[in-house]
Amino acid sequence: MPRALAPLLKDIRACRICLDAPDKAALPHAPRPIVQASRGARIAIFGQAPGNLVHQTGIPFNDPSGDRLREWMGVTREAFYDPKKLAIVPMGFCFPGNDAKGGDLPPRKECPRAWRAQLMDALPNIETAILVGGYAQKWHLETGASKNLTDTVKSWRDFAPDYFPTPHPSWRNNAWLKKNPWFESDVLPTLRRRVKRLMA
Ligand code: SF4
Repeated sequence: MPRALAPLLKDIRACRICLDAPDKAALPHAPRPIVQASRGARIAIFGQAPGNLVHQTGIPFNDPSGDRLREWMGVTREAFYDPKKLAIVPMGFCFPGNDAKGGDLPPRKECPRAWRAQLMDALPNIETAILVGGYAQKWHLETGASKNLTDTVKSWRDFAPDYFPTPHPSWRNNAWLKKNPWFESDVLPTLRRRVKRLMA
């Protein structure tokens, strides 16, 4: 029997696994799990992990990547941050810290292992999930995901409307977006129509 969402979210927000019982190196700061969800949400963003700016504010996608993602979806900030309309469930709920080059580390592996299946069971009304980045694509599409993100996103028709695989909306992917104009011309109009319908 699935757990009720409210106590599950309470447990997630109190989670300290990556500090107290990590697989390898402990999280280099206090955990601050960031997740937005309500049982009625029909659409979700399954992303990677919060960045440092989001870690500071506690608000998911409260950064330029979020601005681009909202533009991709065709939604206002108000609608985006309404948990009754949109669930935001990254693969790792806490900012994982930076690597030696200053980039973000991958989402913590402990997180999906501890929480993801339970949380998916507690969100039975999700009809479409936007899979932002390779980690969420591999988890949710399983063998359907290609090793190469571009190939997975190019095959979006195989997964829609249940899933829309996308690259990360970070400025780091500006070159990717320029090289793959079909993403904006083909994928986004369909995605926007779907979002509009499910968030109405
Ligand atoms: S990343 Fe996930 S598993 Fe690790 S401390 Fe945060 S909520 Fe817990």
